[in-house]
Amino acid sequence: MHVISQALTHPGLRRDANEDSYASSPDIGFWLVCDGMGGHAAGEVASRVAVDAIDGFMRDSDGVAAHDITWPYGIDVNLGVPGTRLMTAFRLANRALDARIMDDPTLRGMATTAVAVLLQPGEGDGYVPALVAHVGDSRAYLWRQGHLSRLTRDHSWIEEQKAAGLLGEDEARSHPWRNLVTRALIGGGDPLVEITPAALERGDRVLLCSDGLSSVVVDDVVADIVSRRPEDGLENVCQMLVDAANAGGGPDNITVVLIEVDEV
Ligand code: CA
Repeated sequence: MHVISQALTHPGLRRDANEDSYASSPDIGFWLVCDGMGGHAAGEVASRVAVDAIDGFMRDSDGVAAHDITWPYGIDVNLGVPGTRLMTAFRLANRALDARIMDDPTLRGMATTAVAVLLQPGEGDGYVPALVAHVGDSRAYLWRQGHLSRLTRDHSWIEEQKAAGLLGEDEARSHPWRNLVTRALIGGGDPLVEITPAALERGDRVLLCSDGLSSVVVDDVVADIVSRRPEDGLENVCQMLVDAANAGGGPDNITVVLIEVDEV
């Protein structure tokens, strides 16, 4: 397997702070985007605490036999070891948020989304098995041969209304509740983490992003930009995605992580 990746984050044009955080760990086949929420800089703390906890656990549990590390939640046979790693990492991040709030009660109410992709090199025959984990409205997209599809469904009020047929795409885009997430890492009880398997082929690209991109730039435009490989290189593709969000007003922080599978 050979994979290249690139990441870029930008505060956008209307906010002073950047409450998004990301981790890019190609050495362990793992990437993550978190979009923090909370007043008085708490959103920045939330996304950073979550990224450190999730990426930290993924590193600690990489390449070790299942019995060699402590699994605070046990191994879930339905998820297998890779899925359990992701689930455990997200739950530990939720606990880490609790611990930070305990230390500093002014952080109470902070929360963060999280979307991650884990590749399992050597496991597939002619493809790379992947797992996507998410909580909230940060997204994972799969780009394959010019076509862009979503690997995640937003945990948001808007998405629930659309699924129920109560709101159309255009109404949803301008709805005052469009930023309301129905799941997040927020401390307290264990989060409901959605884990989705995918099989990646040679040439596939996976895009992780915060809603500073996806709520501003429509999927067709995202697909056009991501399609501009190879002439531009992944770095320029990430820059073009951020530029497109800023051209749309840049109302929110923008984070993009782009992964390309060159060899399976
Ligand atoms: Ca956001």
